[in-house]
Amino acid sequence: MSDTAETLENLLKEDRRFEPPADLASNANLTAEAYDAAEKDREAFWAEQAERLTWDTKWDRVLDWDNAPFAKWFTGGKLNAAYNCVDRHVEAGKGDKVAIHWVGEPEGDTRDLTYADLQREVSKAANALTELGVETGDRVAIYMPMIPEAIVAMLACARIGAPHTVVFGGFSADALASRLDDCQAKVVITSDGGYRRGSASALKPAVDEARTKTDVVRKVLVVRRTGQDVAWDDDVDVWWHDVVDSASEEHTPEAFDAEHPLYVMYTSGTTGKPKGILHTTGGYLVGCSYTHWGVFDLKPDTDVYWCSADIGWVTGHSYIVYGPLANGVTQVLYEGTPDTPERGRWWQIIEKYGVTIFYTAPTAIRSFMKQGHEIPDRSDMSSLRILGSVGEPINPEAYVWYRHVIGGDRTPVVDTWWQTETGSIMISPLPGVTHGKPGSAMKAIPGITTDVVDDEGNSVPNGSGGYLVVTSPWPSMLRTIWGDDDRYVDTYWSRFKKQGYYFAGDGAKKDSDGDVWVLGRVDDVMNVSGHRLSTTEIESALVSHPKVAEAAVVGAKDEDTGQAVCAFVILREEAGDGGPEIVQELRQHVRKEIGPIATPRQIMIVPELPKTRSGKIMRRLLRDVAEHREVGDVTTLADSSVMELISEGIDKGA
Ligand code: ATP
Ligand code: MG
Repeated sequence: MSDTAETLENLLKEDRRFEPPADLASNANLTAEAYDAAEKDREAFWAEQAERLTWDTKWDRVLDWDNAPFAKWFTGGKLNAAYNCVDRHVEAGKGDKVAIHWVGEPEGDTRDLTYADLQREVSKAANALTELGVETGDRVAIYMPMIPEAIVAMLACARIGAPHTVVFGGFSADALASRLDDCQAKVVITSDGGYRRGSASALKPAVDEARTKTDVVRKVLVVRRTGQDVAWDDDVDVWWHDVVDSASEEHTPEAFDAEHPLYVMYTSGTTGKPKGILHTTGGYLVGCSYTHWGVFDLKPDTDVYWCSADIGWVTGHSYIVYGPLANGVTQVLYEGTPDTPERGRWWQIIEKYGVTIFYTAPTAIRSFMKQGHEIPDRSDMSSLRILGSVGEPINPEAYVWYRHVIGGDRTPVVDTWWQTETGSIMISPLPGVTHGKPGSAMKAIPGITTDVVDDEGNSVPNGSGGYLVVTSPWPSMLRTIWGDDDRYVDTYWSRFKKQGYYFAGDGAKKDSDGDVWVLGRVDDVMNVSGHRLSTTEIESALVSHPKVAEAAVVGAKDEDTGQAVCAFVILREEAGDGGPEIVQELRQHVRKEIGPIATPRQIMIVPELPKTRSGKIMRRLLRDVAEHREVGDVTTLADSSVMELISEGIDKGA
């Protein structure tokens, strides 16, 4: 990727820097010394992090990598994940502490659950699942809205050693059925429905339909959330309030092996068919608890934490359920959409609960940018002290807007790079240490080692781009792809087999300081007249134009140049339709910011972009549009009508 250097200078022209606030730096959980300590003896460092958990039996060996790439961490150790997330806090006298401030979408529909409440609920649900015939090792699917019972259900499964697979509540019956089938889930936990965009949407019918496509499911446990009518199969369906409410509050958690499967999570499906990623208990919990404490500088006695992700996504697993609860935090859980009943809902919630740490995705930030700062300006968000971002590269403009408008210029922004497969945060600034650069995830956190390498697996010099790799195993790494060890080895470990590196599938660049800029997926890199261009960089150039809110760039086949740059752009609301010159203006802007080689052949102004349920832009679908093909698999798309909107607009010559 030698020619990347000359064409990808634009991002690195970004020279804004943000120092950590002095009081945060002087009192930070993770300091610069942690990098040295971890480098000196990585296994000892991880053993020390493992002490954050309560183990029934201590491990004999930190890492067993004898059968690489199949890792075992903390071998011989035994623990219960639910006990670590709930009971031990009650035993430590924190039973009255609020674990979850739950906010339903309908206004005024709220509930607070303390750690003691959570212990009772999880114990009852664990007893009920056992009654329903769930045994250690059986898989349980969870298909629910963002209500406390979803978390209770996950922890109840963990408590009895039944790996859960949470399927995002917005997925179709087909998507659900294929996941149920893939992991052979015996029980499904669901609800009648949930509230989204101001009305009750149904969930149970999709479970009923999925059951016509696969016969693995024996029981369906249904929470009553909305009270809407549901079809009922007496042989299979069971109300949560019938079996959980009446179950005993006493439940003794069993200690499981550190390598006991905790859950299977299917990846977002941004690039293709989702993969069932298997995470196990000990190492995963260590990774979540350590990173949540370190990267967010968590002070459990005073912080109020809020991660806006859905539990149907890995971020919800690691940074709503396992990390925060293992650390005994108070957190907010919100059921609905950000703009219901009005666009300022999120900011009102931050004000009401005094949220101090907020973690969200670039897609959300860009949609708020589109609406303007007046809406967030109406709420007092002075409680915030740290902001996080995850899911996609954050464009520098979005980073600066987030820090300025939401964080009042006080808050460090931690741009956290990680994947379903990595289980927890890998590359991120540390809020008390790092001088943040907008758009850069900076460097691997203490305990993690990453690099950017060329085709041969050699480390590229600073100022160059290549493939992002993880160079040594880490506790929360995936253990395999469910039921497909070969695919696990092929997908992640064969590209740089000689070096034994984990291939992340993302492209990245090191700047002159050696800091990492994630450039997006390797498959998204374009080749224009022999120059490799990153989608992220051109998108960031477009977003830096004052009229642009969001942009997606793809490479479309071109007879002259091999590939040509095609851009899809959403304008900010205050820009109206942008005026007749807008396309020309934007082409000029990219030309000026990056260079003639990156000038888009085509720019299409669109009302929306196709995104996965977790908010990531699905460029492969846009590539289909740009190359005039029939649009491919849209089952993981958040809103399938978006593709029609885009195609119609383009047919009209927009
Ligand atoms: P699939 O693997 O099924 O195509 P996916 O990769 O989108 O789906 P996830 O595991 O949810 O599924 O997402 C991980 C990916 O998200 C990373 O590989 C990276 O491309 C992107 N990503 C996450 N955080 C960041 C970040 N801070 N900066 C840049 N990219 C990020
Ligand atoms: Mg992926």
